[in-house]
Order: sequence, then structure tokens, then C-alpha cells
Amino acid sequence: MTKDWYNEGLPHIWRPYCQMKTEPPPLPVVSTQGCRITLADGRELIDGIASWWSACHGYNHPHIAAAVKKQLEIMPHVMFGGLAHEPALTLARRLTEIAPAGLSRVFFADSGSVAVEVALKMALQYWRNLGKPHKDRFICFKDGYHGDTPGAMSVSDPEKSLHKAFKNSVIKQYVLDIPADEYSFAEFDTLLGGINGNVAGLIIEPLVQGAGGMRFHSADILAEIHRLAKKHNILFIADEIATGFYRTGNLFAVNEAGIAPDILCLGKALTGGTMTLGATLASEDVFSAFLGDNPDAAFMHGPTFMANPLACAAANASLDLFFPSPPGRRWRAAPDEDDARYDTPSPAPSGHPLPKREGKDWPSRLESIERQLAGQLAPCRTLPGVVDVRVKGAIGVVQMEANIDVTALKPKFIGRGVWVRPFRDIVYLAPPLVISTEELGMLTEAIHVILRDA
Ligand SMILES: *Cc1c(COP(=O)(O)O)cnc(C)c1O
Repeated sequence: MTKDWYNEGLPHIWRPYCQMKTEPPPLPVVSTQGCRITLADGRELIDGIASWWSACHGYNHPHIAAAVKKQLEIMPHVMFGGLAHEPALTLARRLTEIAPAGLSRVFFADSGSVAVEVALKMALQYWRNLGKPHKDRFICFKDGYHGDTPGAMSVSDPEKSLHKAFKNSVIKQYVLDIPADEYSFAEFDTLLGGINGNVAGLIIEPLVQGAGGMRFHSADILAEIHRLAKKHNILFIADEIATGFYRTGNLFAVNEAGIAPDILCLGKALTGGTMTLGATLASEDVFSAFLGDNPDAAFMHGPTFMANPLACAAANASLDLFFPSPPGRRWRAAPDEDDARYDTPSPAPSGHPLPKREGKDWPSRLESIERQLAGQLAPCRTLPGVVDVRVKGAIGVVQMEANIDVTALKPKFIGRGVWVRPFRDIVYLAPPLVISTEELGMLTEAIHVILRDA
């Protein structure tokens, strides 16, 4: 029965990021629960990458599911042009309350890539509105990845990213190395001084570059890049689509550097991995450049499903879980709900252990995940072919000296009951933030054993 939808549908599916002539067929999934994915043949996989970094509370969290169900009956969707609704306005207020200082306006988009497109367009039009239309290029970084749409592609690494086939078809931007020391910062400073007349903004994945190569930089380096961008009148755009919501240990990666971007992009874990939603937050300075008597100064963007109420309800529910009892605030959309549920971590699927992490607060949970990842991945360092092991928050990376034979490796992970997707020379983990020590241990052990025996 299950095989019918699979065999009949498969010839009509165009799959992401793969050579379909040679790629093995996808695994049929029938359900998810907690940190696990259940396949049609009954096997369960522990998800090591949280559905592309999104399922931060694990799958099917009852609080998020209840919020979405409730919203579904009230209003699944209504256009955002000329209309407003509670889930979006509540979410906007809450996001501005938790975001770095000064980010006071929220533009909702329908995915991470679109949130990046919105950020780039905002920066371009900001300068146009201020009478500086020649500031129309962006600074971005090698190994960076900002999404799959043309604007986002143009600010991703043109050689190494998923987009190299298009490098001559997108706008050319300034693709720089992330400065690493005093010497390269001096060069960076000089360079920015030379090009700032035609640069609208700088876009960076703070602390951790994700899909472009899983490279890390320090909070000091991030703070210095921010300082120099500001010095040279360049808008600082933080793409926290992957790093946001505690992935790197802090609520937002920029918090560790103590900086406030002009524009902040959110996505992925924003809805707890339940629905697609992006958000672009802007400072009041950016926003106010769009106010005026000239209708052309208005921001011309508005996706059909912008601020989708179901997605906003999921995001509000996800924030409830991150901020169980904010002092002096009544954040919960449903005041009739039992307070106690917010004090318990994500309920485990039947038959699986409850996630147990010492410390109820998220930063200490993240510390505990980071410690476990660091401790359990460290033995990979001495394996042949491994050049680096690095860990930041709930991100663990094993880097190999050469590109991995992904096709050979993937079935071995499946065989050990874990869902891990190596790419290029990287094997990484970015599990749900509620993962139990036991489940995380199974993920790290699978990586160690499989790389050792490879
Ligand atoms: C995933 C990602 C995006 C794109 O988000 P989508 O929802 O896939 O469009 C953009 N920037 C970063 C840093 C990402 O990790």
C-alpha cells in the first residue's frame, strides 16, 4: 500500500541537489516523532541534522501541533496586504523583543531564501531612498551560503557553493575572505574604504558558515567585521537562518559578539521546523528611510503567503517553548493552557527516553550538547583522512582531507539507524536541540565507527 504512492509518484519528482541519474532513490518516510524519522519498512532513524536545521524542538511537538491545529480552524490564511492578524502581529512583537537591540520592524517572507532577497532589496532601496543609488553591490564571504534564489545565490560563494553553475548569470558581488588576523583586517579596512561608495551592505552568516562549508569564525572577528562595516557606512546584514534560535549556543549568534545588525534574516527553526516561514528584521533607521511623501520610496515586496497565520502560529508556539515563563509577560497565545507543560522538555515519542539535559534553560542545555559533541567527536581526530573536528553549540563537524564518497557512506549511516547527510569533505551533526544524551551518543558513535571502518 505504502509502496504505491512511492512507485507511482517517484517518476514525477524532481529532487533537490542531486544527480538523479546516479543518485540512489530517496527513502520513503511515513512519520516522524521526537528526534526520529520512521521509514515505510518500519525502520527508525535518529535525525542528526534536524531536517536541515529546522526541527529544533524535534518533530510533532504537541504544543506546536496544537497551536497550528487551533489556527487552522480559525483562519489558515489571509492575505497580508491591507489586512493584519493576531498571529503575525504577536510574532512580530515577540521577535523584536528577543532580537538584538534596535531591530524593531519585521517583514515576513515565505522561506529563508526569500528573507535574504528581502534583506538585499531593503539594503538596495535604503540607499536609493537616501539618494545614493550607486551603492548597489554587496560584500559577502567565501564559503558563504545564503539560499537558492538569484539574489541569495549572488552573495553565496561563487566557486564552492551549490551555485557555481550560475556564477556568470547572477550579479557579481565582492566575495571576500573572512579576515582572520590584524593583518587581514587592515587589508579588509582598506578595501572597504575603497569600495564603500558602491556597496549597499555586507551579508554574513555569523559565527558559523553552514551549507557553504561549515566553517567557524570567532565572535571577536565577527565584532570587528561589524565595526568596519559601520565605519564605512555599509549596512550589516546577519543571515541567522541557520544559526538563529540557540543553534550556536546563544539565542542568536550575533549575541555572542554583542553586536546589533542593521538587518537580520531568520528562517529554518523559526517555526520549530513545522512550516515554511522567513522573517527579515530591520532597524528603525533602515525602516525610516522608506517613509516619506514619495510613493516610490515604499518597499515594494509582498509574497502571496506572507505572514501565513499557520506558520506564524507555529512560530509563536516555538517561542513559547524557548521562553517558557518570561518575567512580567504574557506571551502565550492560549492563556488557558497548562503552565506546567512549558516546564517540561519536548515530550518523547512513545517508547523513547525523554530528552534529559541538565539545566532547564536553553543556554545550559546547549552547553551540555556542545560538551557531549566535543567529547564524543574528539576521537575522530586521529582517524585517517580526518583533518579537523570542530564543535560550536549544537553543531559538530568532522572535516576530511578529500571529498567523501557520499554514495558509499550514506547507506552505512542508514544501516546504523541514523540520518546524517555528509557533503563535500564534511560529515556534520546539527540535531534537534531536544536530543537526548543517548540519541546524540548514537549519532556521534555512528560517525566515529563509520569513518574508522571506511
Ligand atoms: C537554509 C539557508 C538559507 C535558505 O533558506 P531556505 O528556507 O532554504 O530558502 C539561507 N541562508 C542560510 C544561512 C541558510 O542556512
